[in-house]
Parts: sequence; C-alpha cells; structure tokens
Amino acid sequence: MASQRQIHVGSVPIGGGAPVSVQTMTKTETANLQATMEQIRTVADAGADIVRVAVPREPDVEALRTIVVESPIPVIADIHFNHTLALKAIEAGAHCVRINPGNIGGADKTAEVVAAAKRHGTPLRIGVNSGSLPKHLRDLEFSAPVEALVTAAAEFVELMHRLDFYDFKVSMKSTSVPNTIASNRMLAERIDHPLHLGITEAGTKWSGSLKSAVGLGTLLADGIGDTIRISLSTFHAEEEVKVAWEILKALKLRERGPVLIACPTCGRLQFDMDSVVAEVERRLEAYEDPIEVSVLGCAVNGIGEARHADFGITGAKDAGMIFSKGEPLKKVPTDRLVDELFKEIDRFYAAGKQVVRDDVRAAEAAAWLAENEDDTQLTPERLAALEEEAARLGEDVSPVAGRRFTRA
Ligand code: SF4
Repeated sequence: MASQRQIHVGSVPIGGGAPVSVQTMTKTETANLQATMEQIRTVADAGADIVRVAVPREPDVEALRTIVVESPIPVIADIHFNHTLALKAIEAGAHCVRINPGNIGGADKTAEVVAAAKRHGTPLRIGVNSGSLPKHLRDLEFSAPVEALVTAAAEFVELMHRLDFYDFKVSMKSTSVPNTIASNRMLAERIDHPLHLGITEAGTKWSGSLKSAVGLGTLLADGIGDTIRISLSTFHAEEEVKVAWEILKALKLRERGPVLIACPTCGRLQFDMDSVVAEVERRLEAYEDPIEVSVLGCAVNGIGEARHADFGITGAKDAGMIFSKGEPLKKVPTDRLVDELFKEIDRFYAAGKQVVRDDVRAAEAAAWLAENEDDTQLTPERLAALEEEAARLGEDVSPVAGRRFTRA
C-alpha cells in the first residue's frame, strides 16, 4: 500500500500522497564547504528536491551549520555509528537525520537521538542496509535475506513507536534488485510510514541506472515509494538526479523538462542519427517545459507513432523535415535539421506556445514526405502496430509478410 503518513523534510512533503521526491547525496568531503555547496547547487539545478551529506566527523558538523542555511534545498545529515554526531547534526539544524538504529549504539542511544529530534522537530530516516543488519538477524540474512531486512526495519519502526515518535521515513536497501523489490513490497503491507527507495551500490552510470530503473520502477509502478535516490559510482551527483527524473517521467509520476523520443533506427536510416539525437538531447536541457520532441531516422514510415509529439524531425540523406503534432512544418537540409528544429521550438514559445505555420513551407514539406513515405515497407513501427492490432483482435501476425492468421 502507499504510505498514509506524511513527513516534511524542510519544505518537501514525503509520503501521504505527496509527489515522489528526488534526492541525491553529495560526493564531496562535507567539511569542504566550498566544494560541497557547489555540488549542492549543481544537484538542485538538476532537479534534486533534497540532498544528503555525509557527517562522519566533527568538522563536517561545523560545515553542516552553514550548509543548512545556504543550501537551496533541504539537507539530510547521514550518520553512522556515532550517536553524538547525530545529536550535533540535529542541533546544527539538519532538515532530517539519517540513522541506522542497528549501528548507532543500541536502544538507549537511539532514544537519545529521538528525544533530540522531537525537541527540534527534526524528522529521521531510519535506514536499514543489507550489509549492516543487527547481530541477531545475521543468520536469518543468509537463509532469508528479505525476511531479515523486513524484520530489521519493522523492529526499528516498533522501537520508534515505543518512543512515541512518528516523524520518520524508512529505507531498506540491498544490492539485490529482487530483494529490494520483495522487501519493500512486504514492508509496505506492514507499515504506513513513508518509504525511501534505493538500490545500494547500484554500480556504474550504465548498469546502476538500469538496476535502479528496474528495481525502483517496479515498486513505484505498484504505488510503493515516496522518495528515491539513485546510487551511482560517479563523482557527478547530478547524474543520479537525472536518472531519478527519467524514471519518474517514464512512469508519468512527475513532469520535468522535455521528453525526447527517438526511433531505435534500422537499415532504412540514411543520416547520422546518433549525433543528431545527442545534440537534440543536449540542447533540450535548456528548456523547462515538458514538451515532447521526437527524432525519426527516416520518412519511410511517415510521421507514424510520433504524431502526438509537440515537435519532431525526420531525415533522409540530403533533406529532412520538421513537424509538429503530426503536421509537416518545413523541409530543411539534413545538416540543418537540429538548428531548424530549435528555431521552430523557440518560435513556438515566442508566440505564446502557438505553432507558427508557413503554408508554403508546410506544403513543400508535405510534398517531400509524400515522396519519401513508402507504405509498402514493413517497418518496425508498422510491425508493432500490426501486432498490437492483432493482439486486440486475438490474431497472430506473420512478421515476414505482415499477414494475419487467426488463432485456432
Ligand atoms: S523505419 Fe522506423 S526505426 Fe527504421 S529508421 Fe525509419 S523511423 Fe527509424
């Protein structure tokens, strides 16, 4: 079930139906104030709602006092092993403190931290990691890792309730995607506190993004999870934020910036689409509106599946076309496709979000499209459409001839 309770980390609501928030963690030494603030501003610009900083030493607490004041987004202090640092982080004004009751020094020290959190109105994140479960659950971790994680989290939640503290969210992180999915599903059935989702040590930008998309995407699609952090092995924390946003955008949970759609390309491609897509993606970063922009590798298929896109381009060897909402706008040389696309997008905004159409140029583009479109070709898009239609009618499709065979 989705979390019923809501907490606030600074001004950001988490749980209880609030939009899923994006967080990341700085990779700098927190005591290095200048570097840490620089990274916080970078991740905030990239769309982080919340940032977490590691606080393993006293100088980090000192820096934290300034960071919480200067940061444009709420700051979570990440504490392990040292409850004194947790107390100091709360006093320093952290908007939330992350502790793992399993390594903070026992129930009494946890209670001290909770008492300070109550006094200052500071929410906590109760974090459980597969690598640092309480001693009495370590055997269970080998035989039933999901049970072990959920039991640890549930025990900590019970401890919070015994301390009459409810201002917290819970995370259970594992390096295993299936275990992360299974444990969060199980815990979501048992508690109504907000859940923080992440795959711990997910890996490089490539593999870590995929693991996170599968693990977190599955849970989010089920309505489980209130805030997410993508952990990637990169010094650029903003990359984690971008991946988090792509997951939320893909699930239509939140909107931020343009959505780029590109065909997968095939043997019909006649221009350097790789570079064109990369350039379009780069230039779209300057826009905040959630417009949809499509890049098609050829006109054989017409505008096809991209007809809903706000703007799109399709190219051939020497010429290509800009289109909008399924209608041709203008024909342009292939090497000017990207520049002309952005001219049209900028014209659209300058006209108050109205597509500006020149009838003569639109007719020229439509004629070019008619010349290049070839409805005899079974393109990947047409095959997909046939399969979709066949599935709807309960038929089989021959991928070779595009013919249909009714199932026996
Ligand atoms: S047929 Fe489809 S996949 Fe192939 S290049 Fe054209 S638009 Fe792209």
